[in-house]
Amino acid sequence: MNDKTNAGLFERAQRVIPGGVNSPVRAFRAVGGTPRFIARAKGAYLWDSEGQRYIDYIGSWGPMILGHGHPGVLEAVRQAAEDGLSFGAPTEREIELAEAIVALVPGLEQVRLVSSGTEAAMSAIRLARGATSRSRLIKFEGCYHGHADALLVKAGSGLATFGNPTSAGVPPEVVQHTIVLPYNDVAALDAAFAEHGHDLACVMVEPIAGNMNFVRASVPFMTRLRELCTAHGALLVFDEVMSGFRVALGGAQSVYARLIPGFAPDMSVFGKVIGGGMPLAAFGGSSAVMSQLAPLGPVYQAGTLSGNPVATACGLATLREITRPGFFEALAQRTRALVAGLVSAAREADIALCGDSEGGMFGFFFHDELPQNYPTVMTTDKERFNHFFHGMLDRGVYLAPALYEAGFVSAAHSAQDIDLTLEAARQSFKALRA
Ligand SMILES: *Cc1c(COP(=O)(O)O)cnc(C)c1O
Repeated sequence: MNDKTNAGLFERAQRVIPGGVNSPVRAFRAVGGTPRFIARAKGAYLWDSEGQRYIDYIGSWGPMILGHGHPGVLEAVRQAAEDGLSFGAPTEREIELAEAIVALVPGLEQVRLVSSGTEAAMSAIRLARGATSRSRLIKFEGCYHGHADALLVKAGSGLATFGNPTSAGVPPEVVQHTIVLPYNDVAALDAAFAEHGHDLACVMVEPIAGNMNFVRASVPFMTRLRELCTAHGALLVFDEVMSGFRVALGGAQSVYARLIPGFAPDMSVFGKVIGGGMPLAAFGGSSAVMSQLAPLGPVYQAGTLSGNPVATACGLATLREITRPGFFEALAQRTRALVAGLVSAAREADIALCGDSEGGMFGFFFHDELPQNYPTVMTTDKERFNHFFHGMLDRGVYLAPALYEAGFVSAAHSAQDIDLTLEAARQSFKALRA
């Protein structure tokens, strides 16, 4: 009755929650085994219901960039809660958060706050369609933009677990305006714009994709994408729900702006880090585009809990910490050390492995070279990844439970945590060879 083991809780959960989880990848279906039920977390660690400690490289899939239970964030949340959980009326804190986001992302003039990345991406395409009076949109295979119908096509990680390119329950008519192209394929981009450019509302892209492990858009691809959008009057929408405030303070767009002179997207979608672990997301762009939204313009969008006072306090406190001088340099350095250590530990065991990272986001592949697109990611030896995943889990390291997910390091991960992780990796790689 009061079984607190992971297996006991999983069995109980499955009676009242479909699959025992409230988001599919948590169920460990890709890697097999019993999901860990988390009792608490602090800093870089999670503890499951059996009291087992894990070094956490998921960080709630990105938001926990400061680690768990950061004192400044907890205090901000506590104070905000005392003042009221929700008002359904405007607050000064919403302005502060919007000002902070706009200040950190060049080219962004206005944002609207919502409660999830799904909601933000869905609203962004409605706005792009409303603002351009066009219907079609392009997305890329392996990029995930939340589970709104029009975007739930060949969408990477969660769906990949189940081998369906697209969810059931999405009628073909609903996705008839969604064009799916291979990632990093300039020729496919040229061809699609030649055919549909006049009718394209927007192109939505994960600039550094984190839902097919970790794959960067190449500079030639991104350059051409920007040129084509501008030439055809389609809006370039960066989905930075994962990469925003994670790969760099200015998001992946600041990374590409360094590589491509004058580069900026037309609209951006944020989530994860800007909520610091609470439900909060945003979409934004120029004032001209954003003024098409109700109450100013004809594109309707709303939310009872949008700009929630506790979530905005959590997000603001998180942004305050990550804007401290040197924050991203230190985070990036630790993340690079982890990836370099994994690669050399694999080499010691004569296992082909490559990896990449930007800021506090990373990926590694059982490949000789970094994959450039989803089909190549999917050629990874799944059995090998799953053995490695369980080897690490058994040794107290919690990696994402699927090979098509990125990983995340937080500011709370110490050099010693990285060392412990690499020792676990050496043993796990050795076990793979045995
Ligand atoms: C997580 C994610 C989303 C969806 O955000 P939710 O808050 O889970 O709805 C959208 N786009 C990207 C790139 C994501 O990583």
